This record gives sequence, structure tokens and C-alpha cells, in this order.
Amino acid sequence: MDQNCVLSAKNLSKIYKKKSSKSILALENLNLEVKQGEIFGLLGPNGAGKSTFINILSGTCIKTSGKVNVWGFDLDKNPRQCRASIGIVPQEINVDPFFSPRKLLDLQAGLYGVKKKDRITDVILKLVSLDEQKNSYTRSLSGGMKRRLLIAKALVHQPPIVILDEPTAGVDVQQRKYLWDNLRLLNKQGVTIILTTHYLIEAEEMCNRIGILNKGKLVALDSTKNLLDKIQSKRVNFLINKKVTIDKGTLPNFNILSNTDKEFIIAYDKKKTKLDKIISLIQSQNIEIIDIISDDGDLEDVFFKLTNE
Ligand code: ADP
Ligand code: MG
Repeated sequence: MDQNCVLSAKNLSKIYKKKSSKSILALENLNLEVKQGEIFGLLGPNGAGKSTFINILSGTCIKTSGKVNVWGFDLDKNPRQCRASIGIVPQEINVDPFFSPRKLLDLQAGLYGVKKKDRITDVILKLVSLDEQKNSYTRSLSGGMKRRLLIAKALVHQPPIVILDEPTAGVDVQQRKYLWDNLRLLNKQGVTIILTTHYLIEAEEMCNRIGILNKGKLVALDSTKNLLDKIQSKRVNFLINKKVTIDKGTLPNFNILSNTDKEFIIAYDKKKTKLDKIISLIQSQNIEIIDIISDDGDLEDVFFKLTNE
């Protein structure tokens, strides 16, 4: 194991067995290592197995096979120490609406056996920008605030690793920005962060490294920069006045992202197709091209390619 590795999975598999129907292979021989101090993003479409992985770490899901190591502790041998080393922010918001944020954090600290004198409740509330709301009823907080309260809850025992499952799902743009700022601050203080998301632009901005899961298998694991360098696809957005007719065999390797009577968005392999070929195709159908917006592709293209094979 790499010296800087703080969390690892080796040949990790999970099969959900159901009495009535077929069993589901949610994770298949997952191998990955997360390094100290990084922000690691685990991406993947719905049902890819992201939450399953996180729930195995939090102990709410029992793995079928494989090894997990957290902060030097083996999950099978030292589950308690593993759990003490991580703070988990679950996908579902589950905070008691009748307590104040301050009270909730104190209760949580009690659960983790953090002594009164060692509690840093107010520091945490500041960190997640909830100090003004610390004495309000939790039920009066917005969705974004509740999400940040969950992050605060995960921090009471000052874990070196914080794991967040879809932290920005259902959070508005402004609140999302707060959340990312809070996470960056936490990361600057030395905390390793693992998050799952399907907001690819954010993953591109936030994460040093990215793993992409698809149907329980890891289909990519690299630095964000390397992943972006690998992009071969180009995306072009045509503003038009009529719907384009395009058949499967017309061009090699392309994806139509939108095709209406106003816009036609196509992603294609820039090594195999030239833009003028697409332009001729559109013009041959007597369609007027009003404008062309071209873009060299981002993480979304890598993701699309890897999860549609
Ligand atoms: P993600 O978080 O990436 O959307 P999940 O880990 O939630 O994916 O789900 C992975 C697969 O496992 C899906 O096919 C899902 O339906 C299935 N699954 C998740 N949780 C359970 C469960 N408790 N029982 C049975 N199947 C489950
Ligand atoms: Mg999930």
C-alpha cells in the first residue's frame, strides 16, 4: 500500500441478494486508493454503486467480499477504529427538526464519546457557515443549510477523512458555492475529502483525482487533468431553423445531445470527423445555420464515453 494512502479498497464486491428477484452485483472487484490530503471524486450514473461503496465504509452495508482499509485499520478487524477515522455525510437528509444545530452537534459529540472540554461545536458551526443559525430550530433551515449541518455532524469527532454522498443534490447554486467553499477550507486544514457527485463540472473544479464507476465497475481512475487530456471528442452547438435528419451510419462515433428545430448539438470524435463534414451534412438538407458554438469537451464527454460503452 502506498505510504500516502489513507483509504483503500481491494477486490471489493457487493451482491444484494433478494429473495423474490435476481441478486444485484452492485460492486465488482473495486480497487482504489485515496491519498492523504486530496479531494477525491467518485462519479457515476445512478445505480453505479457509489452509495453502496460509501455505505460499506459507514457500516450500514455489509460487503460481500474484498478488503477495505481506512487510516491503517482493516474494516474486518477494527471496524470501530475505521469508523472513528471517517466522518460520513449521507445522501439522505436526516436531521431531527426539533433540535437546534448546536444541540444536535452536542448530541452527536456525545454519541462519539467526545468529552465536553474537547468539543469544538462553535468552530464547526462557523466552518459550515451556520453560526448565525446555531440556536434556531433545524426545521427552519433551508435545504442547503441542512446539508451543511450534516457536514457539521460528520465533523464532531474531528475525523481525518470526510466522505460526502451527493452533497450538492437538491442544493441551489448559492448554497452550493458555500458548501464547496466550506469543503475547500476543510481540505486546506488537512482533511482528506471523498465525494460522490453527478455534477461533473463541480467534480472537474473540485477534485484532484477522479474515479468513474459504471455498473459496479471502476472504468476510470486518474488525475482530473489526465482525464481531461484524454478527451478526443469535440462538441458543437448549431443554432438552426429546422430539425436535422441524421442516421446512425452517417458519421463515425458521434452522439446527438440535442436535436430540435432550433438547435442541434453533436459530440464527435475529432480524430475521425471534421467539422466541415457536419456543416455540409446540415446544409445539404437546406437548413440554415444561424450560429455555431464549439467547445473542446469536458469531463462530461469522458463520462459519457465511459459510461455508455
Ligand atoms: P448509486 O449511489 O451510484 O446511484 P447505489 O449504490 O445506490 O448506486 O446502487 C447500486 C445498485 O445496487 C443499484 O442497482 C441499486 O438498485 C442496488 N441497490 C442499492 N441498495 C440496495 C439495497 N439496499 N437492496 C437491494 N439493492 C440495492
Ligand atoms: Mg447514491
